Amino acid sequence: MKHAGDLTQEFHFYNQDFADGINFRERHGEHMDVMSKQRAAFRGAGVSGGKACGTLKFFRKPTVRPAPSSRPVHPAAELTRLRQAMETAREQIAELHRRALADIGKNEAEIFEIHAMLLEDEDFAETLTNEIAAGKCAEDAVEGAVQVWSRMLRELNDPYLSARAADIRDIADRLLRILAGETQESAAAYTGSFILVAEDLTPSETVLLDKSRILGFVTFGGSSNSHTSILARAMGIPALVGVGKIDEELDSQLALLDADAGTLTVCPGEAELEAFRQAQERQDAQAREQEKSRRALIGRPSVTLGGHRMLIYANIGEGAEVAHALADGADGIGLLRSEFLYLSLNDYPSEEQLFEAYRQIVSDMQGKKVVIRTLDIGADKQIPYFDLPHEENPALGFRAVRICLAREPLFKTQLRAILRASAFGNAAVMIPMIVSAEEVRRCRRLFDECKAELICEGVDFDARMEFGIMVETPAAAVMSDEISAEVDFFSVGTNDLAQYTLAADRQNPMLAELCERNTEPVLRLIERAAKAIHGRGGWIGICGELAADLRLTQRFADMGIDELSVSVPNLLAVREQVLRCK
Ligand code: PEP
Ligand code: MG
Repeated sequence: MKHAGDLTQEFHFYNQDFADGINFRERHGEHMDVMSKQRAAFRGAGVSGGKACGTLKFFRKPTVRPAPSSRPVHPAAELTRLRQAMETAREQIAELHRRALADIGKNEAEIFEIHAMLLEDEDFAETLTNEIAAGKCAEDAVEGAVQVWSRMLRELNDPYLSARAADIRDIADRLLRILAGETQESAAAYTGSFILVAEDLTPSETVLLDKSRILGFVTFGGSSNSHTSILARAMGIPALVGVGKIDEELDSQLALLDADAGTLTVCPGEAELEAFRQAQERQDAQAREQEKSRRALIGRPSVTLGGHRMLIYANIGEGAEVAHALADGADGIGLLRSEFLYLSLNDYPSEEQLFEAYRQIVSDMQGKKVVIRTLDIGADKQIPYFDLPHEENPALGFRAVRICLAREPLFKTQLRAILRASAFGNAAVMIPMIVSAEEVRRCRRLFDECKAELICEGVDFDARMEFGIMVETPAAAVMSDEISAEVDFFSVGTNDLAQYTLAADRQNPMLAELCERNTEPVLRLIERAAKAIHGRGGWIGICGELAADLRLTQRFADMGIDELSVSVPNLLAVREQVLRCK
């Protein structure tokens, strides 16, 4: 993992260039030919620092074309088209399976095994053949078969089989793409290294990316708190968001991404390229020096000059990040975003799958604390197999603990898995999106029920495992006196807390500056929560992106914040800053 540059610098360029970026685009239009015909320059907000030089790759969301139902139909020819498409689909799925096995893991690769099996299913093939025999073209036959099978699977009223309906849809979409002459086009299939350009990426799309090939991210929309930005910072690679639309004709062109300056330059001139390379080398050399001096801090307790101890924890989204967190001296894991497990699968993970993933992380952390957040799905993180209803305002809708309390078996599966993992080290459980003490009491009742079940089953767990909540709604902060009576700790999710306090969508690049300028209301809410939990003898951490804002470390120390949880590339910079605080 490459590490990001200096964070102070990162927030400096973010602040200054974002406003400029908008004005610059307004003045010159989205696509600016500045020096020659081909050269094009774009501006946006750099949300993860650094420079990258490489070719652009546009992330294309698969498009499925409607079946051309007016096509004259010759059954034999349609059958041949369909069989050829199925053969190509088999090859594509085998390739995706191979890649997923190598890049992501066995569990995640299983979905492609299921797809291959469904494609081989004789009954499915027979339905397709019958549709063609009834006079349909290959595309209509695929649509017809998918309707028949989806209905049949759903009517069986079995959650596992209902989820297979989504797989049938996936296979159908693949067949339709092949029939339409599209080649397999996804970031997972790209070779070589590249700067990934996308309108924006959903969390489930980012899971499938082969991250080792990505030199940097550029998104048309997005903001500092969008998941692409969080991923880029976790990977320690440059990212530029809110650049506006980039013409796809620029795909495969050489580009210079300077997230520190907030610019993307496509088809640069020779001299510009050379100057960029030199600047990149200088920056890399400086980063290496800085890294060396910061590394010397590893193992040193992060205590301010005034004697306040602040633990420095890491935010992670998957087990693979544990080794990096330990290597950079994390005192623990302050936020394990457990939804990434759900996003990488095509069906609900079992208790055993969750337990195994958590157990591995908890034992790898060798006695250091691991705060496991229960599922935070909904809003910008959608999972098809959850079949959530469409909402006009998903960020204000059915998400996180609201879903868990409405679907108790889903919640208890997680709580049991976390409890079981607690026997292997130092785990804690944390509930997101809480708004009231009553909600916390309902969660605790289910938590206690899980404990009682495990005792009856003779299964080990840590009876003293800590139970906490995220303070990420203004309601939770305002009610923190009452809520603190129910929990051992608070962890402040400033990404959502800022969004809900300032009524500013965290995904909207036009509001990023407003959020940057208005941290005070958020800080006052944190202060209030800190007083409440400390009054009850509990502890408080911050796990939103503000935890890594070095301009705020002193303020956090003054409030008596006990722990800051940041993405891995920020661990050393934050530790260094704490040591400088009064
Ligand atoms: C937050 O809201 O600050 C947070 C840490 O959670 P997420 O970014 O996953 O919503
Ligand atoms: Mg949140």
